[in-house]
Amino acid sequence: MAKIHRLMPQHPRMFRAQVVRTERVSPSIHRVTVTGPELTEFSWQGYDHWFRLFLPLPHQQGLTLPEFTGDRWYKPYLAIPDDERPHCANYTVADFRPAADDSGEADAEMDIDFVVHVGPTGELEGRAAIWACRARAGDTLAVLDQGLLFDCPTDASEVIVVADETGLPATTNILRSLPRDTVGRVIQEVPTAADRRDIDAPPGVDVTWIVRDDHATVPGTDALAELLRHTAVDAGGYAFVVGESTLATEGRRHLHRQGLAKDRIFFSGFWRHESRQAA
Ligand SMILES: Cc1cc2nc3c(=O)[nH]c(=O)nc-3n(C[C@H](O)[C@H](O)[C@H](O)COP(=O)(O)OP(=O)(O)OC[C@H]3O[C@@H](n4cnc5c(N)ncnc54)[C@H](O)[C@@H]3O)c2cc1C
Repeated sequence: MAKIHRLMPQHPRMFRAQVVRTERVSPSIHRVTVTGPELTEFSWQGYDHWFRLFLPLPHQQGLTLPEFTGDRWYKPYLAIPDDERPHCANYTVADFRPAADDSGEADAEMDIDFVVHVGPTGELEGRAAIWACRARAGDTLAVLDQGLLFDCPTDASEVIVVADETGLPATTNILRSLPRDTVGRVIQEVPTAADRRDIDAPPGVDVTWIVRDDHATVPGTDALAELLRHTAVDAGGYAFVVGESTLATEGRRHLHRQGLAKDRIFFSGFWRHESRQAA
């Protein structure tokens, strides 16, 4: 199978950056735009280009980053003392605007879309989302480039993308990046109707929005139910299924049962709901 995309960079690079501005783009999505001279060399590949985000701990002003060479960053990261080790979480490039000119006056900008989620008593949850909601211009962070996970063969007869809201930035950019003659189907779950957005999809890709609305429903459940109704799967297709861990694993199981080979399905539990953590 010919693959069209470069996957993980051989020597992932760390980019330091600062917050420029933040915006609540929809009820459940808080966008943080970051910039900095180092980002000029970030090579955005579209699709689901993702990175590891390093954030200072609440008591810190600056950021202690792991020193590493090659691709082994985790051991040096763990070697940082507990009270200095930055928080690390995985995020997708929501958008990237290269530097406007070479004068150095307009650095590149990257948007990061954080899903805002609240606990049973209504308090904001998730260390990265809490950081994002409190972020102010000038706050420091770093991103470690991880490349793409979407790995569609050039000859795929159809593309199926299924995601909960944590996969919305990936879905948005996969659809923007795919060749315009791609055919396929997207099932995108969001917490509220106002979290739906305009997506620049190839005309042959059918996008179904699933609006959860019910706070008690575990994210991904409704997208999975919609996928289970979908039985006409072409064996020559490719699928990308991401979000809450059950959506990812059960989605993949269903697609495989419908005749899609395992190496034509990328699936990833982007996070695990607390009700499924002991399972
Ligand atoms: C490749 C990749 C790309 C990703 N891209 C994005 C992205 O662009 N935007 C994005 O928002 N997320 C994205 N995620 C998911 C994100 O990494 C997780 O949601 C992660 O848990 C957030 O880190 P945190 O430090 O805030 O969470 P933690 O502080 O570790 O989590 C605290 C608690 O919150 C719960 N939790 C975490 N996420 C959610 C959620 N979305 N809804 C409800 N409860 C939750 C966890 O179960 C946990 O109990 C991506 C994940 C991967 C693997």
